[in-house]
Amino acid sequence: MSRPATFASRSATACADAQLQANLRAAALHFQGNRKKAFAAFAGGEAARDLVRDVKDAALARLPELLRKLESSVTALGGTVHWAADAAEACAILVDIAQEAEATTAVKGKSMVTEEIQLNPALEAAGLEVYETDLAEYIIQLAGEPPSHIIAPAIHKNRRQVGELFAKKLGADYTEEPEELTRIARDTLRRRFLRADLGVTGANLALAQSGTIVLVENEGNIRMSTTAPRVHAAVMGIEKVVPDAASAAAVLAVLARSATGQKMSTYTSFLAGPRRDGERDGARSFHLVLLDNGRSRILADPELRQTLRCLRCGSCLNVCPVYEKAGGHAWGSPYCGPIGTCVTPLLGKGSGRDLAFACTGCGACAEVCPARIDLPGVIMALRRKAAEDPGFPNPAERGGPPLSPGAAKLFVKVAGSPGLFRAAAALARVLDPSLALASRLAPGLRAWTRTRKPPRLKTPFSKAWPALAGQLKPQKPGGEQP
Ligand code: SF4
Repeated sequence: MSRPATFASRSATACADAQLQANLRAAALHFQGNRKKAFAAFAGGEAARDLVRDVKDAALARLPELLRKLESSVTALGGTVHWAADAAEACAILVDIAQEAEATTAVKGKSMVTEEIQLNPALEAAGLEVYETDLAEYIIQLAGEPPSHIIAPAIHKNRRQVGELFAKKLGADYTEEPEELTRIARDTLRRRFLRADLGVTGANLALAQSGTIVLVENEGNIRMSTTAPRVHAAVMGIEKVVPDAASAAAVLAVLARSATGQKMSTYTSFLAGPRRDGERDGARSFHLVLLDNGRSRILADPELRQTLRCLRCGSCLNVCPVYEKAGGHAWGSPYCGPIGTCVTPLLGKGSGRDLAFACTGCGACAEVCPARIDLPGVIMALRRKAAEDPGFPNPAERGGPPLSPGAAKLFVKVAGSPGLFRAAAALARVLDPSLALASRLAPGLRAWTRTRKPPRLKTPFSKAWPALAGQLKPQKPGGEQP
């Protein structure tokens, strides 16, 4: 599917899709409500968020040491650790693993990092059949679409659309009953699990001390992907390592509550290396691929480093007004919403310098982030970096800020001086009361006025405000004034 190249054009397409708007609104309300209830019932919720911030910061501060320890622990368990500097290297490693195992079929658990490196096309190009086994990932694989939410990749589709897709692609009788749709997917995928030679997953966490990886899910498909095939390969960003089980417990206390509103996910698996003699199940061989792909660069930047605390819970997406209108595909990245805005330009070769300028600055994301990432602060830092350097983040995709530096300086000068501001406003009321001329001259303003009609400037705002404020007073139920 070819999609327009900028956030503005992709989001314009999404905003014009009435069905998508309804799906996104329903999903946002559902997830917001679940998270709210979960934290209302969690007495230590705020302290738990502080703890996650501290645990992750402490792990990031000693990342090289923890990664070396993780490598030695996994190796001691009989697994193999691979280091991938970028997406191409990670894909090449996984293709090698598949070919050495003479694998022809791979089943995958949901993993954003494998979306980041575009693993499926790489494995398919090497001749493998690849099947997503998370229900939502399976749906979008059948539809030939990328994910549109970090934890709910098919959030943009409703039951009717899924029923039509299954009828078309799987030859199933049309139904939109969730239980029936799940049964159809389960019947098809069970045959894939039994045939697969290779299971590929991500990892929510890895424990340096024991070499254990932690996988969180609700459907049981990850357990199947890690135990049914002969070979299991887990791919994880290097920031996912924590020292020990106590650190993992701190993260798990907030992860599911933030993501789905559950106290714990239905399945939390701790996997330690390949199957040992005498054990009844598990893959015979285990590989852990540690991916950098820009994370070291993020780690080195004191302003951006905190984004590596992210647990990929998706909570910030569910409260973001821009995500609710534009949907995940507008980001043009597997990572969307506020965290997608922050990390998309920093991972891989770097693209999406326009994303930071789409933020409204409402701050709702920071209020829900379980790792207490100051997402609005990071987005402002990205805006500043883009304004200061036309080659940020990717010199091959140079661009300017929406407002030219000269115009920005002029605005700061006028806005910083009450006398100048009053004089400019008085002049505008006489010469350009509907801002039509200003919109034509200033591209930044034109983008804003394209979908909004500025009020005619008849009276200074300071004089009009008391009357406006009266109209805005909160209404009591029944319409009475308080
Ligand atoms: S930034 Fe915070 S809220 Fe957003 S996905 Fe990451 S952990 Fe969740």
